[in-house]
Amino acid sequence: MTGKTHIAFGVLIGTQYAIAQSQNISQFAAIIGTTALFSIIPDICHARSKLGRKIWPISILIRLLFGHRTVTHSIFFVILTSILLYVLQVEMIYIFSAIFGVLSHLFLDMLTPSGVTLFFPWQKKIRFPFKFKTGGIIDLSLATTFSIVTMYIVYNEIVHRTIFWIK
Ligand SMILES: [Zn+2]
Repeated sequence: MTGKTHIAFGVLIGTQYAIAQSQNISQFAAIIGTTALFSIIPDICHARSKLGRKIWPISILIRLLFGHRTVTHSIFFVILTSILLYVLQVEMIYIFSAIFGVLSHLFLDMLTPSGVTLFFPWQKKIRFPFKFKTGGIIDLSLATTFSIVTMYIVYNEIVHRTIFWIK
């Protein structure tokens, strides 16, 4: 999947979580930002990815240690990220936002032909029975679809709150 699709899906998941959990508008934005950021973090192992190019020393190090698209695309990485954020005393709500971001990434990559090593260090590639090509028409239309669904969710929430407010 392209970075665009990953971010669009991260924003969608983040919006849903933010509507359910945020207490105010700044927390609302921070949740979506966190989920969106972590929805592309797993691709730091691709040196040629958007993010990988910016932080290439880290991405090359990860690739040398673990190989391409392995450790960062696994349950192990989700747990590692959670522990790291917990140690850094990040608020629980943002730790969950990060977890949802990474999980959304894994979910989408499981739709691609190469799949992901979900149960790393077990090297078995896990993927869904139906799959789409990265950069293909479905990949690109997914990004658009996710953005439209996000707008719909936000619109729906605004309408509901307004009705509640008018009553
Ligand atoms: Zn990926």
